[in-house]
Amino acid sequence: MQDTVLLVEDDEAIAEMLAQVFEKSGYRFRQCGSGEEAVIRVKTRPPSVVLLDIGLPGIDGLETCRQIRQISQVPIIMLTARDTEVDKVVGLEIGADDYVTKPFSPRELVARVKAVLRRSNDVVDAPLIVEVGGWVIDSGRHHVRNGDGEPITPTAKEFDLLRYLAENAGLVLSRSQLLEAVWGYDYFGETRTVDVHIRQLRKKLDGIPIETIWGVGYRMSDT
Ligand code: CA
Repeated sequence: MQDTVLLVEDDEAIAEMLAQVFEKSGYRFRQCGSGEEAVIRVKTRPPSVVLLDIGLPGIDGLETCRQIRQISQVPIIMLTARDTEVDKVVGLEIGADDYVTKPFSPRELVARVKAVLRRSNDVVDAPLIVEVGGWVIDSGRHHVRNGDGEPITPTAKEFDLLRYLAENAGLVLSRSQLLEAVWGYDYFGETRTVDVHIRQLRKKLDGIPIETIWGVGYRMSDT
């Protein structure tokens, strides 16, 4: 089945360029010019992945990301012209899976989309339920529970990271190992991305046994 890319961008030149690139790479390509429209699209005709520009005419990309996350766990890649650490971190904290900084190469963007989709498609082949330290990580339902507690639904990338840590419980994993395993590439991203996602997981899953191993990375405790 063909994957659908939804671009949210008001700049027609960028939209036309990306339409060509993605259609040539075998994707179905859709575009809308505002965040308000994007939220409706995700609700009515959910795409496989959303490419979301930060600079938009109505609500901006960050607010759009927040609103999409209230209704969907679709992978989101932010397009940002502002190359500041603050925007990247804020984007990841409100649920974006990844970001690219303008000007980006179309090839890089296609590679990122592939990586994000590969991870969300891989879920199908993985064991459905992983249990660790009283936590149940359910890939079929895409949620996490502690004992009899209410199920919690992390974002797609947070979930992948959690599952990878749980599958390797007891092992110390470096940031670059995690980046490569979960994001599917080892040189595009920054290891900071891993830290932000870990912070979000700890915030959402109170008491989740993810330990910081100073100077190395992270470990999910298996006891
Ligand atoms: Ca724009």
